[in-house]
Amino acid sequence: MEVKQETSYVLHHAQKIIAIFAAMRDFKGFLLKNNHHVIYIKINDKDNQQCFKSNLNALLKVHHIQKFEYQEPDESRLDKELKIFCSEISIPSACVSSEHFYTSRDEVKEVFRDKKQWLMESFYRYKRKKHHILMNDINEPIGSKWNFDNENRKAWKGTPKTFKDTRPTHNHSVLWDEICNADIKSFGENNASHFQWPLNRQEALKHFDFFVKNILVYFGDYQDAMHKDETRMFHSLVSFALNTKMLSPHEVILKVERSFHDNQISINTAEGFIRQILGWREYIRGYYWANISSLNSENYFNHQLPVPSWFWNGQTQMNCLKYSIHQSLNEAYAHHIQRLMVIGNFSLLAGIHPQKLHQWYLGIYIDAFEWVEMPNTLGMSQFADGGKLASKPYVSTANYVNKMSNYCEDCHYSKNEKIGEKACPFNSLYWNFFLVNAQKLGKNP
Ligand code: FAD
Ligand code: SF4
Repeated sequence: MEVKQETSYVLHHAQKIIAIFAAMRDFKGFLLKNNHHVIYIKINDKDNQQCFKSNLNALLKVHHIQKFEYQEPDESRLDKELKIFCSEISIPSACVSSEHFYTSRDEVKEVFRDKKQWLMESFYRYKRKKHHILMNDINEPIGSKWNFDNENRKAWKGTPKTFKDTRPTHNHSVLWDEICNADIKSFGENNASHFQWPLNRQEALKHFDFFVKNILVYFGDYQDAMHKDETRMFHSLVSFALNTKMLSPHEVILKVERSFHDNQISINTAEGFIRQILGWREYIRGYYWANISSLNSENYFNHQLPVPSWFWNGQTQMNCLKYSIHQSLNEAYAHHIQRLMVIGNFSLLAGIHPQKLHQWYLGIYIDAFEWVEMPNTLGMSQFADGGKLASKPYVSTANYVNKMSNYCEDCHYSKNEKIGEKACPFNSLYWNFFLVNAQKLGKNP
């Protein structure tokens, strides 16, 4: 069902609403073609009551439903709602796993039960062994190392050449009109009707196969690189397909592992990519379910500033932020380092309220769903949990931005200056951050 409850819990990017509805409609078509019985509620259907509970109650009644079953939702908000719904109805109900992740909701918590410090790396090694991924016959890591991250820090100077985006563009103008008629609020309407996010599994598979065959080989080396003329560099753009369950993490990892065994890619490339999904993605999910009750209110540094108005239009003289925000607004996408080391870095140094910033990230990106966005924003990027997820705050001066990008080249500010009119704000804010928080960070190694 397409419901306003889901389009309005945060101000979403127009592409995100359209892409999700379009993919749902496509999936309905697929199910019908395969002789499944489907009831689909469109956003403007006259009987649509615009929230799950009311629509479900109506369906139970009209169709004389005798048992209600559902898949585990990924978000705690919906989890609670469906549990309450089940307790209120008079027919039996059951919840089943979506079988979409490697890890059950509570597994990360179990792994760290007796541990003071949660470390993604130790969870990742446990998962590698458990699922025998990139392991040899005696269950040791292939390449004799668990992690090749040190080899993944190159800046990009124009070569190797990046690849043209080969994903088909879809015309969503009919759906967009329906969404507008339903009076749904969103932003980023400029590109609303034409964009390239996959609508179905076939498209997502095709695109991912192209990535594995042509682009993945450069992923590890240039994972942290940023460039004014490039939006994706050598990243996969697979998060939307993964998070909407068009592709499973299992098949994505197996394809990459196979490519390594077929000598198409090196071990540092295979390991680096697999760590993102088997390590980070699964760890983040477990962290979410273990901490959701407190995460939503945490604010370790007591930061209070609102999200600057220019986060909604990219109008700033700081080049790195201008480019990263413009791209996010236009494409509903920025890669990890833009999210973490440009936008997140600035927000933490400047003292933006972490929960308000979380609302911004949750709305803006095509792949943003609370279970993955919230721990990344509040934990990894803003240190709002006081260091449970990330062992150190991810902050830097202009030095890092300049090393990994060409943003500083023609910036209004000077990357080398720390004080004065032209000083790069990252420099003064960085030292200010450590002065102001000396007590809270004094013991951080
Ligand atoms: P690639 O760089 O090609 O990586 C491959 C895959 O690895 C990604 O698709 C993703 O599934 C997984 N992955 C990599 N890093 C992470 C991570 N830290 N957490 C979870 N999965 C990871 N990711 C989301 O899917 N949704 C979000 O809402 C989201 N919000 C973020 C907010 C902040 C502040 C930060 C720092 C990171 C966020 N991430 C989020 C993680 C990461 O930035 C994106 O998964 C990635 O940029 C998606 O682009 P890609 O598919 O091209 O990724
Ligand atoms: Fe960003 Fe500072 Fe570099 Fe300008 S000089 S691009 S503000 S890091």
